[in-house]
Amino acid sequence: MSDRTGTIIVLSGPSGVGKSTLVGRVREAMPELQFSISCTTRAPRTGERNGVHYYFLSHEEFGRRVERGEFVEHAQVFANRYGTLKSEVLGRIRGGSSVILDIDVQGAMQIRRAAETDPELKRSTVFVFIGPPSVETLEKRLRGRATDSEEQITLRLENARRELSFWRNYDYLVINGDLETAAAEMTGLFRSFALRTAALPEDLFDA
Ligand code: 5GP
Repeated sequence: MSDRTGTIIVLSGPSGVGKSTLVGRVREAMPELQFSISCTTRAPRTGERNGVHYYFLSHEEFGRRVERGEFVEHAQVFANRYGTLKSEVLGRIRGGSSVILDIDVQGAMQIRRAAETDPELKRSTVFVFIGPPSVETLEKRLRGRATDSEEQITLRLENARRELSFWRNYDYLVINGDLETAAAEMTGLFRSFALRTAALPEDLFDA
């Protein structure tokens, strides 16, 4: 069915939950899934490339793009700004491809609100949260990063707990305990999005 629209898969989860590894697995299983490259004002980490991992922008350039209305959502995470460009998302879903947005809870909630008055967003978005098996597991994983100072760890833990408290605002929760199980669940979930009635044209069965 060629005139099916794609799904905007909004994906969030606290730091330390293993989101990147899990998403990597799902993308291997579903290479047709597209990935929205975000803009950020933070500096690239070792190995990160502009236009591949992020579009790395100055604060000034980021601000200009906000004023021009180029973002679907944008938020401040720690000291930096992050945002999803409309150009990364809208053309693709209109062309029938699904797009993953790996964004924080503030950005996800902005999209939720925008969808209330934007029929295209309302039809296309699905909200998926990745959670840990327990808060204790998450704390252990965050403390396991030996390079962090105690102060950094405390900040991360607070932020992770705050993010975790948003899980009920999402449509689906995938628990990342065992990676293989979580990857299989998430792949099944994402495949099911192609069956959403909202992605199909209203006149599907019209004579
Ligand atoms: P990092 O700097 O470690 O790559 O990402 C930090 C946080 O920013 C993560 O929680 C990530 O999901 C979030 N993030 C990345 N891109 C975006 C974006 O475009 N919008 C929002 N709201 N958050 C983002």
